[in-house]
Amino acid sequence: MKETNSLKSKKLFLLDMDGTVYEGARLFEGVNEFLDYVENSGGRYIFITNNSSRSVKDYVLRLKSMGVKVTEDNFFTSSQATALYLNEHHKNEKIYCMGTASMIEELKKMGVDVTTDKKDAECVVVGYDTELTYQKLIDVSYLLQTKKGIPYIATNPDRGCPTEFGLVPDCFAICEAINYATNRRPVYIGKPDRFMIDYAVKMSGFSKEEAVVVGDRLYTDIASGVNAGVDTICVLSGESTQKDIDESEIKPTFVLEDIKEILKALQE
Ligand SMILES: [Mg+2]
Repeated sequence: MKETNSLKSKKLFLLDMDGTVYEGARLFEGVNEFLDYVENSGGRYIFITNNSSRSVKDYVLRLKSMGVKVTEDNFFTSSQATALYLNEHHKNEKIYCMGTASMIEELKKMGVDVTTDKKDAECVVVGYDTELTYQKLIDVSYLLQTKKGIPYIATNPDRGCPTEFGLVPDCFAICEAINYATNRRPVYIGKPDRFMIDYAVKMSGFSKEEAVVVGDRLYTDIASGVNAGVDTICVLSGESTQKDIDESEIKPTFVLEDIKEILKALQE
């Protein structure tokens, strides 16, 4: 672990949301002060989220309702990352998407040719679909088995998504259900893959050394920073405990209690 003093050179903060800046509908103390400090010192913050059930527009509304000043430029979701991936690797293909209406809207906005017609489908994409129906599971199973070798992509490898009472099945859990039936597993795009971190750093104009990934999950947030060669802060306000960190092979650069403690370290 590095001394938190070296955090002062950081300009680009790539922030997770759930367990890092809020829990459910409760914004953590010190978030607005932290974001103001980053902006006033010439830095930038981008919320990097694996959650593909909401669009960027949804997130702007959600954070604004919690009293956080944000615009669409402050977000990068795994749906957007998946759209970039599809535009690079599956250009001009008709994409069958099993995801929320918000996810489909996001893909279309970024130029992906989304189809709901199984006949036309040349590629299958699965997201964290909170509007999932059994018919959708049948359709994806049909495509994966009748169109042998059809490309199969998923937005994020999270097992569960936190709610007020505990976890609910996220994208990985949905894809594992499909795997039991079809014996196919997708290529996953979101964290811990380095793609989202690399892309956000490149678009920001800051260097890797000036960037830091902040999150509460070792196997997604912290691993994505490690994979991209970017420093990381694990906050203890969400999923991971100090014991988890001690026992894990994935080691963050810094461990701090919460976002308020990060602000304190920057100001000291
Ligand atoms: Mg989180």
